[in-house]
Amino acid sequence: MIDLRSDTLTKPTPEMHAAMMAAEVGDDMFGEDPTVAALEKKAANMFGMEAALYCASGTMTNQIGIRLHTTLQDEVICHKYSHIYLYESGGIMSNSGVSVRLLEGDQGRITAKDVKAAIQPDDIHSPVSRMVSLENTMNKGGGSCYDFNEILAIKKVCTENGLAFHLDGARLFNALVAKNQKAEDYGRTFDTISICLSKGLGAPVGSLLLGSADKIKRAKRVRKVMGGAWRQAGYIAAAGLYALENNIDRLAEDHKNAQIIADTLQGLDYVEEIYPCETNILIFRISERYTNESFLAKLKEHGVLAFGFGPQLIRFVTHYDFTPDHLTDLLQILKKL
Ligand SMILES: *Cc1c(COP(=O)(O)O)cnc(C)c1O
Repeated sequence: MIDLRSDTLTKPTPEMHAAMMAAEVGDDMFGEDPTVAALEKKAANMFGMEAALYCASGTMTNQIGIRLHTTLQDEVICHKYSHIYLYESGGIMSNSGVSVRLLEGDQGRITAKDVKAAIQPDDIHSPVSRMVSLENTMNKGGGSCYDFNEILAIKKVCTENGLAFHLDGARLFNALVAKNQKAEDYGRTFDTISICLSKGLGAPVGSLLLGSADKIKRAKRVRKVMGGAWRQAGYIAAAGLYALENNIDRLAEDHKNAQIIADTLQGLDYVEEIYPCETNILIFRISERYTNESFLAKLKEHGVLAFGFGPQLIRFVTHYDFTPDHLTDLLQILKKL
């Protein structure tokens, strides 16, 4: 099977697996797991931030981030396609008791101008605008990336209006590689950043929340109440460390593969539109010749798995386990449909 459903499907390579088996571990709830500590330290240093917290998932790191910045009756400003809003099971409401102000924007990106216009007046009828959350790369925007100057402009609006600034960076490393940007620039700009080790980086589990020492100290308490404090997590943290040390630069291969697939789709009569392909996510619109179901079934007959991502929209995600042979086969299959 050629599995393009997600970059979360990768299995540890023998080298990553060996690193996991060799991990030194301890009880992390006692602060005694040296591998978890090393992972948190490495990630914080990469971004020039004071501290990091290793968590089970990106949903958890996002939800903790939102909780740290808000209190009941506050509001989070974000794009209407944000993962924090669409795909975290209503957690903004149930974990933090806050509402959302959803913005429109090109390929899932919001602008400083729209953020400024969305800030609520200081009036008892309105929720309190308290934070802005960006997503980079933007999953539902087809792996689109922010221009860093726009991020700085949004930061300025946040600073002027006392808003916290959170980044859902589940695939931030894809953006850094694709746009040749620096992790420290992000660390300087955001109050909290969530990064995932289990997407393109290829680790089996885990995400990190980055922030100030004070914020991360509070984050530990929130993680605990969510049932997310762990014991000998060093075994999986070792995979995350391995991923940060070895798997970042190779994301460029995933981007190249996605671009090659996009170029092939471009000439095919059943493809009506292809979203701009900047990283490892490729979204395209199929013609009425197929429904999502019939198209996905046809792909499956040929040994290809993918997801529907809206009406007549199909998503492919390239990753670590997508080999050059897979690419050759896939291009042949796509041309035959
Ligand atoms: C995958 C993802 C997350 C986190 O998801 P988990 O499955 O909880 O790890 C967060 N944001 C985006 C944009 C994602 O793609």
